[in-house]
Amino acid sequence: MTNDPSSRGSRSRLLRWLGLAGEAESGEETLDSIGLIRDVTAREIWLPAKRRLLAKVADFLIDHDLEVMPWTLEIAYDCVTGAKPKLAQMILERTEAGQPITIVWLEQVVREEEGETSSELLAALMSRLEDTLEEFASATTHARSATTEYGAALQQHVDDLEQVGRAGAVITELAALAKAMMHRTREIEHNLCESERRAMELQKSLDEARRVADEDHLTGLPNRRAFETLFEKEYAAAKASGEPLCVAFCDIDHFKRINDCHGHAAGDRVLKVVAETLSQISDARCHVARHGGEEFAVLFRALPPEKAWDRLDQARESIAERRLVNRATDMPFGRVTFSGGIADVFAYKTRSDALRAADEALYAAKQSGRNCILVAGQEPPPLRDAA
Ligand code: GH3
Ligand code: MG
Ligand code: MG
Repeated sequence: MTNDPSSRGSRSRLLRWLGLAGEAESGEETLDSIGLIRDVTAREIWLPAKRRLLAKVADFLIDHDLEVMPWTLEIAYDCVTGAKPKLAQMILERTEAGQPITIVWLEQVVREEEGETSSELLAALMSRLEDTLEEFASATTHARSATTEYGAALQQHVDDLEQVGRAGAVITELAALAKAMMHRTREIEHNLCESERRAMELQKSLDEARRVADEDHLTGLPNRRAFETLFEKEYAAAKASGEPLCVAFCDIDHFKRINDCHGHAAGDRVLKVVAETLSQISDARCHVARHGGEEFAVLFRALPPEKAWDRLDQARESIAERRLVNRATDMPFGRVTFSGGIADVFAYKTRSDALRAADEALYAAKQSGRNCILVAGQEPPPLRDAA
């Protein structure tokens, strides 16, 4: 035990933080005199520290009114321990701005973070692929110039052979040259094969990384990022061919109630069922994606709004007719429905305007009683029974 007063001070601060200093607030002398500092065991130190950490994790979830789930616990732990300073900072800023820390917001932040990781992975794979392809190209060039060199030398000797009578010496030289050439060519061939194999391997990894980066892990549908890319492509294709293009947003009605009554895991299963039902209307020109939370986006190429409406309404009806039961408890979920808003993309100046119009139509569908699909710019039907 050192007698350095500054060291005693910091130790006592540590003990106070750990909750071990108890009532001995009066200073280092008291702590020393009751023998606390000398006698604390590792367990006595870490047990209160663990309690404090768990209490902070619990406070975080309670203060922000978050459900206790593996991933929210992980976020709380990361924030209170400082394992993710960027996330902790975002949460602090949002709290200071008086905005709530909701599951939806956290999911979005985590998704963006995952998106960043996937993009980084993709970028790294791309650069490896580029390097290998460069290697491949240079090996091919090398192979070509080597064979050209040998070819020219061979040609020279063949010419000599034809013109002069010293055939024996030339043939020996020619044989040696041909042997060397064969050896080198085999070597080059081997290198080319290896480059080709590595390029194919990388291509496979790249495809897998792309698939993971573009897929929503819960439903297996394309995620928002992939949807944006699809929208861009379909927009260009429809514009070039003069075909119509519609975009729709669908949102499960009163989904929060499902989570509240049956739990998040059951909510996830309902999300999957809705995703499967919507997938049934998709084909090469109709793409369904999970846009986020309990919201889905659909693209209809070559369909005018009325036909797109028909198609989407089929899915709406099909899910509304089902009577889903929570398989964990045998309790019925009640009627699961969704509302939708459709926009005729080329009726708007930009893609963003069309998305906004579809979102507004979805909002109008919610306002007019839910469990219905509305087309932007068309009158909503009279108010119906809520779902
Ligand atoms: P509305 O009919 O107006 O759309 O009401 P709502 O309850 O569906 O809408 P609200 O935005 O109030 O709630 C959406 C809920 O969806 C809140 C959020 O916790 C839940 N949610 C979002 N993503 C997921 C998910 O991946 N799984 C589960 N189980 N719930 C999710
Ligand atoms: Mg909803
Ligand atoms: Mg929603």
